[in-house]
Amino acid sequence: MSRASSDIQSIAVIGAGIIGLASALELADRGVRVTLYEKQWPPRGASWAAAGMLAPAFEAAAAPGTHPRLFELCETSARLWPDWSAQLEVRSGQSAGYFPGPSLAIAQTAEQAALLRAVEAKLADHELAPQDCLSRLDEVEPAIETQARGALLLPSDGQADNRATLEALVASAEAHDGIAIEKGEASIRVTSRGIDHSGHDATLITSGWRSAKVVLNQDEGASDVSGLDPVFDEIVAFGGQMLAVAPLEDGPRLTVRCGHIYIVPKGDRIIIGATTEPGRTSLEPEHSTIASLHQAAAEICPALAKAEVIESWAGIRPGTKDHAPILGETSTPGLFVAAGHFRNGILLAPLTAKIMADLMIDQNSSELARSFSPQSRYAEQL
Ligand SMILES: Cc1cc2nc3c(=O)[nH]c(=O)nc-3n(C[C@H](O)[C@H](O)[C@H](O)COP(=O)(O)OP(=O)(O)OC[C@H]3O[C@@H](n4cnc5c(N)ncnc54)[C@H](O)[C@@H]3O)c2cc1C
Repeated sequence: MSRASSDIQSIAVIGAGIIGLASALELADRGVRVTLYEKQWPPRGASWAAAGMLAPAFEAAAAPGTHPRLFELCETSARLWPDWSAQLEVRSGQSAGYFPGPSLAIAQTAEQAALLRAVEAKLADHELAPQDCLSRLDEVEPAIETQARGALLLPSDGQADNRATLEALVASAEAHDGIAIEKGEASIRVTSRGIDHSGHDATLITSGWRSAKVVLNQDEGASDVSGLDPVFDEIVAFGGQMLAVAPLEDGPRLTVRCGHIYIVPKGDRIIIGATTEPGRTSLEPEHSTIASLHQAAAEICPALAKAEVIESWAGIRPGTKDHAPILGETSTPGLFVAAGHFRNGILLAPLTAKIMADLMIDQNSSELARSFSPQSRYAEQL
């Protein structure tokens, strides 16, 4: 670690998505002066585009290649959500959009049924163990009408109206005496004496999928931040398209997942998602893709077929190879990163903010947090 904790009294945070906002508030609450840079105000990145599921359960049986401790990270953050969102409501005076579980997962194919069985087996001893509800599916969620081959109620999995959460975070950051907001694109300058933290003691990059693309200004010219540390190149884009339909009397009450389709009722709209498209950075949804998502959701919940489409959009998840975020100090002293949260950034915001504040201010890092650091993930490159 490069600095004594007392050395860091001011921090530049680049990016005001849910990760930057949550981190800025946590850092400022602990007495550090924060400047929060955001190029699009109000922020409309992945945190705006997301479905807002707070869904650790499936990470327990995630595909090979997923970070082995991602479920633990997700589950720990899920436990923070109720208090974190309650505090956010108190400080902002507005809804943070949190809804506790359960959510419902159903299987239409043998492969999906096997995945449900794997989730059930992995979480059998968990205090929020999934419950097989196939025999009473009609009663659990009357809006579902499909030949289900499996159904699990997931008490661990809640959801948030992520747009409400983001607005509450923005209002809280704007009102915080310890946070200055700079609207515009931030870049990093390197001088002969090393990295210039825009007059601060340290920099935290939370720029979502664009984290590797933060501009680096050096005497020799401009490049991007991956010139400082190859770890940034690990953060790549995964596009996702979604739609929202108007709420329905006979629509689903629960969040429902089936394969890659999810249906997330938000009160004033029902979200239907999502594609996962490696490398897609367009923010334009495609008509045919949106129509096929709508149709697939209607095959699970027929009432959705008649629902009016009120919005469709595309967002960009910040992904990594093992689908887990990179949290920690890079090989450049004083340059920290919290990015790459992929499909779990809304869920992971409260814990990410705590991990980064513990590390940057108190130089304290839990064993779990250390397993997501650049050093432990990409040691061979650093
Ligand atoms: C379709 C879709 C569905 C999803 N569903 C879920 C879900 O159900 N549950 C869940 O937990 N997660 C979900 N996610 C993932 C989640 O949205 C992301 O992991 C999370 O929002 C990442 O937050 P972030 O703050 O890192 O990024 P962002 O929200 O993208 O914020 C990054 C910010 O940095 C700003 N920025 C970039 N470069 C600069 C710069 N140089 N200077 C200043 N500002 C800059 C951008 O403008 C942006 O506002 C979903 C994502 C998508 C796209």
